[in-house]
Amino acid sequence: MTNQTQLFERSKELVPGGVHSPVRSFKGLDSTPRFVKSAKGAYITDVDGKEYIDFCMSFGPLILGHRNEVVENKLKEALERGWSYGACEPYSLDLAELLLERLPFVDQIRFVNSGTEAVMTALRLARGATKKNKIIKFNGCYHGHVDSMLIKAGSGLAGTAEASSGGVPEGIAQDTLILELGDLEGVKACFEDHKDQIAAIIVEPLPANNGLLIQEMDFLNGLREITKENDALLIFDEVISGFRVAFGGMAEKTGITPDIVTYGKIIGGGLPVGAIAAKKEIMSNLAPVGSVYQAGTLSANPLAMVGGRETLLQMTADKYVELEKNTNRIAEVFKKWLAEYDGGKFSNYNVIHTASLFWIVPGDKIRCVNNIPGNIGEDFVPLFELLLDKGIYLSPNAYEVGFASLAHNDEVIKDLEERLWK
Ligand SMILES: *Cc1c(COP(=O)(O)O)cnc(C)c1O
Repeated sequence: MTNQTQLFERSKELVPGGVHSPVRSFKGLDSTPRFVKSAKGAYITDVDGKEYIDFCMSFGPLILGHRNEVVENKLKEALERGWSYGACEPYSLDLAELLLERLPFVDQIRFVNSGTEAVMTALRLARGATKKNKIIKFNGCYHGHVDSMLIKAGSGLAGTAEASSGGVPEGIAQDTLILELGDLEGVKACFEDHKDQIAAIIVEPLPANNGLLIQEMDFLNGLREITKENDALLIFDEVISGFRVAFGGMAEKTGITPDIVTYGKIIGGGLPVGAIAAKKEIMSNLAPVGSVYQAGTLSANPLAMVGGRETLLQMTADKYVELEKNTNRIAEVFKKWLAEYDGGKFSNYNVIHTASLFWIVPGDKIRCVNNIPGNIGEDFVPLFELLLDKGIYLSPNAYEVGFASLAHNDEVIKDLEERLWK
C-alpha cells in the first residue's frame, strides 16, 4: 500500500468521502486522491515522493505558481505582525486601493473569505437594492454552494426549477430561474413572464466550471441591455475570470460594465479571500451603512490581504500576454500528443483554451451544456490516469478546466513534452 492509499483510508474514516471538497475525491476515476506534501512553481510532490506538473493550481488561485518567492517573503513578514485582529488594519486598504485603481467600473469593495460568500452577499445586495426577489442563473454556470445557486432546470414546465442538492428548500428553488447560456430570447421571455420580480441576472461571463463554455459577445451585451431595460442588476461572477483573463477580468476584456462583481480565487493568491465590488450607490446598501447585512469574523484577514496584494502587484499587462502565449503552447503540445498517442486512441480530443485556461474535451465550439458530449466523464478516466502516471496532474474531473500559471514557463513546457512522449 502506498502512503496515499493509507492516508485516503484514514481520511475516509474522519471525513465524509475522505475529502473536504467533493471535486478532490477522484470520484469515478480508477486511482485514489494524491495527497500533496509540498509544491514549488509549476510542480506538486505527493507523499510518495512522486512529482507532477500541476495544471489544477488549487483550482485557479495560484496564477504565479506555487510559493512565489516575493509572496512567500511578504507572508512571512506579515506572520510576524499577527494573523487576525477582528479590528481595522491597514493591509486591506492597501489591497482595496490597488484593486479600485485598476478596476474603473467599481468604486467600493468588501472582502469576505470565499467565492461562495461573495456570491451569497452579491445576491442579497441585488435583492436589497432592487427590492425584488427572483434571480436568473444559467445552466452550466457555477456560483459556489449557496442554497439559491444549487438549482437546476426542473423536469416539469419550461422555466420551472428544482434543487440540485439535498437540503435546499423548495421555496428557495422558486426564486431562481434557470436558463440556457446563449439563449437571449429565453431571457427576454423570462422577464416578460416575471415582470418586476427579477432582481438580477448572475452569470459567469466566462463559464469555466462545467467545461470552458466561451460565450459570444452578443449574448453578454444582450444581458446588459435586457437588465437595464428591466431595472434589474447584472452580476458578473468573476471568481475564476477576475485577474485571469485580464486584471479587470471579463468586465475589462468585454468592456461591459456589470452592476456587481464577485471575486475569489486569484484575489487571495491562494489564501482564503473573496470580494464583492460595485459602484458606491449599490455598495452603500451594505451594513453598517445600509440595511443589507453582511459580516465576517475573519474577513479581510491581514495575512490573506498581504497574500492577495503581493500576488496581484505582480500581474502587469505583459504578464497576461506571457501567460496566454505559454497556454497556447501548452494547448498545442497536448493537441499534438492527443492526436498521435497510441495510433490515435485520443484523437477525438480537442483542447479548448482562452487566456490561461484550457479544457481537454472530445468536441469543439461548445458554448452551452447541451453541446457537451454525453459520456465525457467515462472517456476521461483512461486519459486522466495515463497523464497522472506520466506525472501530469489535471483537475480530477472531465468537467473541470486546466489552469496555467506564470510558473508554467519554457522549461516546464519542455518537461511536459518529455513526460508526454516518454
Ligand atoms: C470557485 C467559484 C465559486 C466559489 O468559490 P469558493 O471560494 O470555492 O467558495 C463561485 N463562483 C465561481 C465562478 C467560481 O469559479
